[in-house]
Amino acid sequence: MKEAIGLSEATILDERKRQVHRTGQGELDLACNTDSLAGAVSQRACVFCGSRVVLYPIADALHLVHGPIGCAVYTWDIRGALSSGPELHRLSFSTDLKEKDVIFGGEKKLEAALNELIDRHQPKAAFVYSTCIVGLIGDDLEAVCRRVGEAKGIPVLPVQSEGFKGNKREGYKAACNAMWKLVGTAPIDDIPPLSVNILGDFNLAGEIWMVREYFQRMGVNVVANVTGDGRVHDIRRSHGAKLNLVQCSGATMDLAKMMKDEYGIPFIRVSYLGIEDMADSLYQVADFFQDQDPTIVERTAELVRSELSQLMPKLAELRKDLEGKRVAIYVGGAFKAFSLLKAFRHLGMQVVLVGSQTGTKEDYEELERITDPGTIIVDDANPLELSAFIKEKGVDLFVGGVKERPIAYKLGLGFCDHNHERKIALAGFEGMYNFAKEVHLSATSPVWRFVPRREQTPLEVTHG
Ligand code: SF4
Repeated sequence: MKEAIGLSEATILDERKRQVHRTGQGELDLACNTDSLAGAVSQRACVFCGSRVVLYPIADALHLVHGPIGCAVYTWDIRGALSSGPELHRLSFSTDLKEKDVIFGGEKKLEAALNELIDRHQPKAAFVYSTCIVGLIGDDLEAVCRRVGEAKGIPVLPVQSEGFKGNKREGYKAACNAMWKLVGTAPIDDIPPLSVNILGDFNLAGEIWMVREYFQRMGVNVVANVTGDGRVHDIRRSHGAKLNLVQCSGATMDLAKMMKDEYGIPFIRVSYLGIEDMADSLYQVADFFQDQDPTIVERTAELVRSELSQLMPKLAELRKDLEGKRVAIYVGGAFKAFSLLKAFRHLGMQVVLVGSQTGTKEDYEELERITDPGTIIVDDANPLELSAFIKEKGVDLFVGGVKERPIAYKLGLGFCDHNHERKIALAGFEGMYNFAKEVHLSATSPVWRFVPRREQTPLEVTHG
């Protein structure tokens, strides 16, 4: 039988069909949290990269990549995370393994590199990342780190992040396991009762400073940033905080769970992106502490009122040009997509495609609940699928990270970087205005008039 099918359907490999869903079209039974399909390519990074993005912003630690130089280059200054003090994290050190090391082992080279770098930079701790080849040749990272740590008197922590051993989430877990060795190793006597740790914010463009300022106005003390503008000593005493605030569904949740099990510190999931989620996160913290401080809720309400009274008129101006435009979202952790969806509704824009690299079943159920009928929900997509979906849905603006940017530009549509490369703070109330300006600038740029959009062409295929 011969029939015409859409480009999107023809592009999805049979083995990937269960990783795509359309809101309102049948029951959601999305396959997710699995290894990427061989041969299908993927927007995902490797396990090593997952661990790097989480640990890298710890600014006074040494970060040594044990592997060929390419792994270190690939993740050099990967998040552009800002520091208010030391900037050791921005240097990318590597043992630069060569063929001879692969044959005879790289442990001696690793030990020499650690000794030299610790003497030269005097870090507060060192993280040593295992890459694919180290997993293959079987260097004993644990033993080398223990030896050097004892000799130098600082924590030297192996990060078991061999690139091939799973998907990016495994990297998050390896990072949390490494940080877990620091937690509980410094005194906590001077920590005040209203205290939190901020988990899962990486201080891109100084965002964690904005969020910390809100907490300061509420009278809440921040013990540790995990990990944006992070410090080793703060993480060591983070078990003294009364509450963990976890942003980003994947990256630091494992650490929050370990702290809950071991120290009984509860955690709540928060998001600092968009108006509702930012306000809701502050109110959740205020509610948590209101028994100790009965005026905290009122202080928080005043903060939110004052921020919104400045923000809303400015958003209304930008909304006039954005109303009705169509948006595609593809992000690392799906939790961010929830906030982005709400933020776009404030701008009068319609999200028609939303996907993530590492979403869980619960994440996708939530996405199905909050998206409009017909919205495409996709797990672990690849460039071909994303391009086909974007054409099918007539998208005006794509929101993603470094790997999604060329897809948008090749298709001739606006792009907003919501990941590693951006230099503009998008969190908090002030960030919402920056976000709206970014979106407005890109989606309404006259340059798109000169780029002919590639229209969808239905494919003629033969079945049976
Ligand atoms: S760890 Fe492996 S997959 Fe990751 S960058 Fe290095 S070689 Fe590539």
